Amino acid sequence: MFPMVLGCAAWLTQGTPPAYVERGDAVEAQFRAHAVRLEAFFDRLREAVARSAPEWLPELEAEDPPPEPGVHGYQLLPDIVDEADASRRTSVSTFSYSWPITEVYIQGEARKLDAAESRFDEAAAAGPRIRAVLRDSIDLYRALVDDLETIDQYVQYNRFWQRAIVDDRVRFDRMTALYDTLAAGTSGDTNDAVAELLGRPDVPAFVAAEGSAGGTPVLGLPVYTDIADDAFLDRVEAGVEAMWRVEGAGTLDVRFRRLPAGRLYAGGRAPDVGDPIDLAAHAARFPGDGAVLTTGAESTHGFVGRYVALGPGSVTVRTLAHEFGHVLGFVDGYLRGYRNLGDDGFEILEWTSGFDDIMSAPREGRVLRAHFERMIEAIEGRGE
Ligand SMILES: [Zn+2]
Repeated sequence: MFPMVLGCAAWLTQGTPPAYVERGDAVEAQFRAHAVRLEAFFDRLREAVARSAPEWLPELEAEDPPPEPGVHGYQLLPDIVDEADASRRTSVSTFSYSWPITEVYIQGEARKLDAAESRFDEAAAAGPRIRAVLRDSIDLYRALVDDLETIDQYVQYNRFWQRAIVDDRVRFDRMTALYDTLAAGTSGDTNDAVAELLGRPDVPAFVAAEGSAGGTPVLGLPVYTDIADDAFLDRVEAGVEAMWRVEGAGTLDVRFRRLPAGRLYAGGRAPDVGDPIDLAAHAARFPGDGAVLTTGAESTHGFVGRYVALGPGSVTVRTLAHEFGHVLGFVDGYLRGYRNLGDDGFEILEWTSGFDDIMSAPREGRVLRAHFERMIEAIEGRGE
């Protein structure tokens, strides 16, 4: 969710991968093994349900079979999900992520799957009680599929941020120092320090004031996109505009400009669906007089003043609104520091300010009057 440039894998030509990559590969392998086991469980369960409780088959099959974990690539769109997802996380001020923590989650899921399999194995001897056994098994399976997606996102998130740390050590060292100050609870003007670190929005030139609608200033945001799915784009537009609207303070008018892959790569070969792409190079193909909405990320994120890149993991409208906040020129209202765990890679430390604004709290924050005021200030200050 923080702006960054994807780094190239220099170690590919230099031999041994760094610890954070090697450890990540090992954890991801455990995750894949778990996903394969879950898929095998789904097959056995489906067979038994078809035989003994066929009326539950649609419900079981409606639950997506486990997705292939770790898959990301060009033109793979996320599901846009309801805010219910947000309630899973409680609003606390610190979070941390690492490969060892992810590994513990995966081991916990493997134990849950053991339990689900044991329950299911009772079916053979359950006689007339087989329906109760299958009912439990379906419920246990559904919970495991939900968790699978969450862990997939942890894996992608760790990959993304641990590489970001390596790519911009100086900046992350600065943020880590500030994180430590805040975590130590020492008093002082920490809010000022955070504000100074984060700065004012760097509103790009293509965001324009376009008069007002019923006393509310309208800001126009042109967005180039190579996404061809109109229904998906309609949902993004409606969702982001609904979030970026504060009566009397400002409203956003998102206008998509279609730029199909064939035209973006005219004279060359456009990537196929699912191909890995170099996002920075891909985004650079779009004209500069608009923002960009594209695909191919491991994890959905925004690059300040430039693009939103979607990953395959499901996102909420609120998260999309947060990423569009980056495109409008805002940086994250929270800090990310790190600890070097040696052979285990890095632990990522997040500290949120406790403010409820969309850039500080992508999972539960709101767009505030101040966001529009700062943007309008920046637009009016142009050329001064
Ligand atoms: Zn962000």
